[in-house]
Amino acid sequence: MKTQLLTEKEMERAAAILRAGGLVGIPTETVYGLGANGFDAEAVSRIFLAKGRPQDNPLILHIPSATWLERCCRDIPESAWTLAGACWPGPLTMILPRAPQVPDVVTAGLDTVGVRCPGHALCRAVIEAAGVPVAAPSGNLSGRPSPTTAGHMREDMEGRIDAIVDGGPCAVGVESTIVDLTCTPPRLLRPGGITLERLRELLGQVEVDPAVVRLMDEGEHPRAPGMKYRHYAPRAPVTVVAGQPERSAAYIAGHARAEDGVICFAEFLPLFTERMGAGPVMDLGPAGDTAEQARRIFDALRAFDHTAVPAIWAQCPDACGIGLAVSNRLSKAAGFHIIQV
Ligand code: AMP
Ligand code: MG
Repeated sequence: MKTQLLTEKEMERAAAILRAGGLVGIPTETVYGLGANGFDAEAVSRIFLAKGRPQDNPLILHIPSATWLERCCRDIPESAWTLAGACWPGPLTMILPRAPQVPDVVTAGLDTVGVRCPGHALCRAVIEAAGVPVAAPSGNLSGRPSPTTAGHMREDMEGRIDAIVDGGPCAVGVESTIVDLTCTPPRLLRPGGITLERLRELLGQVEVDPAVVRLMDEGEHPRAPGMKYRHYAPRAPVTVVAGQPERSAAYIAGHARAEDGVICFAEFLPLFTERMGAGPVMDLGPAGDTAEQARRIFDALRAFDHTAVPAIWAQCPDACGIGLAVSNRLSKAAGFHIIQV
């Protein structure tokens, strides 16, 4: 199959492909998604094939406005309307009781469903034109870093899906925050662009699922099934060095071999690029700018796959604000191999 690259002007074509049961790469403000008609079980099952995604990892339904919530969910609590009012359209997924018309393949058989109204206007326009909720996981091959440009998505999906809509680079750069509203207190299942601090302002107490901050033991089942998989991994092994930026930079400079790859804050670029025979160095952005780090993290991880680096070392921000999401993605890319300095 030839994968068509569509522009904004061709969004009706993307909607028609979705309605007909095809697969379309869609831009969102978080990462590019791999979309199908969320009410068409056969179409959704093709997403799993194209990605090589395990069947037990459910998908998020994307809707163009909160008024579609009732098409996907039942017994919607007040907290969901509060969050929708404050955070939608935007990078927040809510886990809610599932409506009967949502196929099993979307939820991996769970009686809950993840729903999100994306902040990317073109994405909402495509869904609106398709007239159905769009089930979409991130548009990478399973296990690989998520795509934050149409080019990344082509790297992984060329020949495997019908089309990709190019909506430019993603403004947030990490996947949506996931909050489970079916338990008390609500629980953060995945950190993202809507911060834990913001959720607590809106909801009061919010717990953090242990899978956000540590490796799951064998037999442990995180509430977001996807959090148990090794994720976001470039081909070379990653070591995260956490702590005060000057100290983590010094630690990496003292331990990395010349040919190793480095992901560092902008301030420390010269320290690594001026090494003798330096391996590739990726700039994560200024140490104090976690939003910029979120935009760059997946591109940085992907970039090493075009090189022969034997190992990758990464500086890591504090877990405040969107820094929690950056730190979580880096830690997962490293299989939670983290050195605290
Ligand atoms: P992706 O879209 O690739 O970022 O993956 C979607 C994420 O949402 C995965 O981590 C899933 O495990 C999680 N997810 C989707 N639906 C549910 C649900 N009903 N309950 C818990 N987690 C979910
Ligand atoms: Mg994903």
